[in-house]
Amino acid sequence: MNKFEQLGLNESLLKAILDLGFENPSEVQEKAIPLLLEKDTDMVALAQTGTGKTAAFGFPLIQKIDADNRNTQALVLSPTRELCLQITNELKNYSKYEKGINVVAVYGGASITEQAREVKRGAQIIVATPGRMQDMINRGLVNIKNIDYCVLDEADEMLNMGFYDDIVSILSDTPDEKSTWLFSATMPQEVARIAKQFMSAPLEITVGTKNSGSSTVSHEFYLVNARDRYEALKRLADANPDIFSVVFCRTKRDTQAIAEKLIEDGYSAAALHGDLSQAQRDGVMKSFRGRQIQMLVATDVAARGIDVDNVTHVVNYQLPDEIETYNHRSGRTGRAGKLGTSIVIVTKSELRKISSIERIIKQKFQEKSIPSGIEICEIQLLHLANKIKDTEVDHEIDNYLPAINNVLEDLSKEELIKKMVSVEFNRFITYYKKNRDISTQSAGDRRERGDSEGREFNNNGAVRYFVNIGSRDNFDWMSLKDYLKETLDLGRDDVFKVDVKEGFSFFNTDPQHTDKVMDILNNVQLEGRRINVEISKNDGGGRRDHNNRGGRRDSSRRDGNFAPRREGGFRSDRNSGSKEGGFRGDRNSSSRREGGFRNSSSRNEGGSERSSRRSENFGDSPRPRRSRRD
Ligand code: ADP
Ligand code: MG
Repeated sequence: MNKFEQLGLNESLLKAILDLGFENPSEVQEKAIPLLLEKDTDMVALAQTGTGKTAAFGFPLIQKIDADNRNTQALVLSPTRELCLQITNELKNYSKYEKGINVVAVYGGASITEQAREVKRGAQIIVATPGRMQDMINRGLVNIKNIDYCVLDEADEMLNMGFYDDIVSILSDTPDEKSTWLFSATMPQEVARIAKQFMSAPLEITVGTKNSGSSTVSHEFYLVNARDRYEALKRLADANPDIFSVVFCRTKRDTQAIAEKLIEDGYSAAALHGDLSQAQRDGVMKSFRGRQIQMLVATDVAARGIDVDNVTHVVNYQLPDEIETYNHRSGRTGRAGKLGTSIVIVTKSELRKISSIERIIKQKFQEKSIPSGIEICEIQLLHLANKIKDTEVDHEIDNYLPAINNVLEDLSKEELIKKMVSVEFNRFITYYKKNRDISTQSAGDRRERGDSEGREFNNNGAVRYFVNIGSRDNFDWMSLKDYLKETLDLGRDDVFKVDVKEGFSFFNTDPQHTDKVMDILNNVQLEGRRINVEISKNDGGGRRDHNNRGGRRDSSRRDGNFAPRREGGFRSDRNSGSKEGGFRGDRNSSSRREGGFRNSSSRNEGGSERSSRRSENFGDSPRPRRSRRD
């Protein structure tokens, strides 16, 4: 019997769960589902984001609904449109083998009459945002007077967003006998107040420690000068070629401006904020889910509850005004047991906020320095090499090979490799050679890194290594550090500056350990794979040569599935002609203006965005493939 069966779920749900690919219930599901199935009760369930709360209430809800009765039996309130749509979608998935269950989403920004029509056709479950729900009630378009279940999902978020009055008013329109299930990541006072006011003897479930962030998320901060914020963002993106991230800004204007700027600089980015139309937001989310966008620049409100799996990084471009919000931001990554990183770009004057956040999330931040030009080039180069290796060949290309061979036949394999890599890479190295280092010191402890002039590092004599294991092998910096210390039999502080990327990592030791590192590590296997370690920087060993490493940041550095779709799909038809190998900088700037959302339907955005960009000071922001501004 699988674990879901033990919880008491019926056949049709179990079948749907099989389709979803859930193997075992998460903790909150394991705790909540049997209780909710067993009897009609009120419940308060506290669990961090990403712990599977939707299914924790969704499964029992579907099982309890009477599919033969077309009346509205359940109301799920959720803070945002995006979340509302997500939950609706999930519930539909859960109930796909259960005939006759209708789930309808009710949210602002879309036609209220259409939604009312759907409700009227018979919706046993309504998933709604509080504002629109209130509206529907006021206009007599819904009847929730006889519902049996009311779910308050992400209750803390809803209250955070000022929906207290709406919630109170909506709840008073529901019968007293119903069961109320409140799900929340945190338990601030307002949530407790709602619980007290509207629930009777609720069962309480807590998963993990209250208010703590998800432990699958590691937290890092990068100290920079205020004027380097944007440059830092770019470098972080460059240093993480496979980044798939939500970048948080404080205001709609900044959100729009940063997204525009990123797009202009050749990144696959888009803005998500409340000034976009619903259709635009849906378009952005669709592209993000489809991974045509690597960097979704969003306001807190717009990004609430976004549930996209495999987000690798949350970037706090600016810290939120309310530090509690940090938890919700970082919860966008590290979901479903995956590892994620939450990055904060911070200036000296904001440093104290880091300690306040540490207290809230009960986790320590790791202070890191913005990767220098050389390091980025190295990462990009290796990424490119890996990409070439992993690329699947489409045999269409066979037809062209004779002609291509003709052109290239005089090159040796070595020359060919050098040239191929340089095609993609020269611009990168050129760019980073020109640009200064933007790393800043805080406590002066861990930041020996120097360079950005395209010269050597000086890691205080330390040796930097490249090793072919990374987060793909389930390492994060801490576990890799432990692994290295153990394998190499080194002391606590002998391995430092461990930086884990997806398929590879960097770390430092003092030179006296180099022989040991090279000897031992190159002879161990990790799950059957040979570990390969090389000296990465020219600090102690002098084995590097960057001359052949061309540089260029562009789409081709991304995974194959980003590059082709980005051009045609999301980013409007206008640019499809300018593809040529994914090089994106040479598009003329007028076609890039609209910034974040570039669908053909994004008609009205131009003017305001342009002006907002003008007023934003991005400082010195040279781009790899355009002439520098300064
Ligand atoms: P929360 O509401 O607690 O933030 P979600 O309900 O949005 O979390 O779930 C987060 C992610 O985990 C979703 O992608 C969901 O599909 C996935 N998930 C939920 N339950 C399970 C499970 N039992 N096994 C595997 N994945 C799950
Ligand atoms: Mg949720």
